[in-house]
This record gives sequence, structure tokens and C-alpha cells, in this order.
Amino acid sequence: MNLQGKVALVTGSTSGIGLGIALKLAEAGADLVLNGFGDSDTAVAAVRAHGVRAEHHPADMSKPEEIEALMHFAASTFAGVDILVNNAGIQHVAPVEDFPVERWDAIIAINLSAAFHTTRLAMPSMRARNWGRIINIASAHGLAASAGKSAYVAAKHGLIGLTKSVALETATTGITCNAICPGWVLTPLVQKQIDDRTVDGDSARAREELLGEKQPSLDFVTPEQLGELALFLCSDAAIQVRGAAWNMDGGWLAR
Ligand code: NAD
Repeated sequence: MNLQGKVALVTGSTSGIGLGIALKLAEAGADLVLNGFGDSDTAVAAVRAHGVRAEHHPADMSKPEEIEALMHFAASTFAGVDILVNNAGIQHVAPVEDFPVERWDAIIAINLSAAFHTTRLAMPSMRARNWGRIINIASAHGLAASAGKSAYVAAKHGLIGLTKSVALETATTGITCNAICPGWVLTPLVQKQIDDRTVDGDSARAREELLGEKQPSLDFVTPEQLGELALFLCSDAAIQVRGAAWNMDGGWLAR
């Protein structure tokens, strides 16, 4: 797999799944635009260690004007985006009647609307080159629901809908748009849910219960495995994979 000469933008790539995917793309030779909060220096250094160019842009993906600035940055620093990975995401768990309105709005903005904005802004240069890969990091929760996650489930189902529409609009081109639907991955986003379930300091038990409820393999998916799937979707062999919602979930959706 050789992605030399390609530029990839991975939103929310300072940790977790986004960083795992960015590292795999860098390993294959792609230059990277990183984004996200927290320790961006460590993420940039880890990506550059693969001998590629990497820059970080701090856009808050809940804000359309900052997303526009991010896309301008990618265009002016790297001459546009060939591989767009919409990964930034947040979670909040509460019953629908108690769900804070501000958290609903933030989840829809970051987990769904941000992908619309990056896609609409990346599309002209992808069309001009007749090559592009748009990979939306949805979730098993894009295909099945869980109680307490109304905003997240709505956003991820919506993201799969967006994926299918964009795949149809680009079906006769060299641009593909697909979604990846991970099951549980042990990242800060999931660690917080384990912490919330931990009773008497027994976090190992909380982890086992979390996995046992949904993921038949009883093991976490890893960011590296998701990075390999993203790499495949970037390959020539995947040109007819269009509008897919591809789960990698330890069997979550098989039951
Ligand atoms: P994470 O918390 O490790 O990473 C989230 C990333 O998004 C971080 O880089 C963070 O800085 C960034 N981010 C958050 N809000 C942002 C904002 N407003 N603007 C810009 N960046 C922002 O989480 P993760 O588990 O790696 O999640 C990545 C994606 O994978 C999310 O879309 C999540 O819904 C999805 N996902 C995660 C799991 C899982 O089990 N961890 C499962 C399925 C899907």
C-alpha cells in the first residue's frame, strides 16, 4: 500500500481511533493534517516519525467557521485533501428526558454536522482530481441503538445516511465514501464509561461487564485494526466499496 503524494485529514486525531488511523496512513506514506484537542505535539511527532509531513490544526469541529479555517489550512499548506477521515466524536449518556440540550447540540454538531462541512469543502478538489476517499467513523451505534445514548445513536445513524448519499453522488467517479462502524475500542471516550460503571474501585469488572453486554468476542477492537481497515478502503481494490457501513465490532451486530 503506497499513499505517497496523498494528503490525509483525520479529524480528532490527537488520541484514540483517530491517532491510530493517522499513524497507519502515515506508515503508508501519506502526509497528514491532524486535528483535535489535548496533546497535539506528541501526535504530530509520532506521525512525523514515519518520515511524512504532518501539521496540526486546532479547529473546534462543532464550529462551521473553524472547520472552514481547517479546510483552508489543508488547501494552503498541503494543496488539498485526498483522504478525509471524519473521526472527531464525543459521547454523553443520559435518559432522553434528562438529556442536556447543550450536550445534544454538541453531539449532533461534532459527530454529524462536522462531516457534512468537511465533505462539502473537500469535494471540489477531489472532483477536480477524480480521486478521493471519505471515511466516516460511525459506530455499531450507527446500526443499532442502546438506551441512554439518544444523541449519539441519532448522530451515528445520520452519519451513515450521509455516507450513503455522498456515495451515490460520487458513484461514477474515483471518489468513494464509506463508514466504519467500530464496536468497543478502549480509548478515553470508552474509559470514561468504564469509570462511570466502576463500583468499589473494581474497574476490571466494569470492563468485563461493558464488553459482556454487547461484544461477543469479549475483547476490544484496537485503533491499529481500524487503521488497517481504513487503509484497505484507500486502496485500489476497494474502488467498488461504496456507501458501505462496515462493522468491526467483535460480533456486536451479529446477534
Ligand atoms: P477519543 O476521545 O480518544 O478521541 C476523540 C478525538 O476527538 C480526540 O482527538 C478529541 O480531541 C477530538 N475531539 C473531541 N471534540 C472535538 C471537537 N469539538 N473538535 C475537534 N476535535 C474534537 O475517542 P475515540 O474513542 O477515539 O473516538 C473517535 C471516534 O470513534 C468517535 O467518532 C467515536 O464516536 C467513534 N467510536 C468510538 C468507539 C469506541 O469504543 N471508542 C466505538 C465506536 C465509534
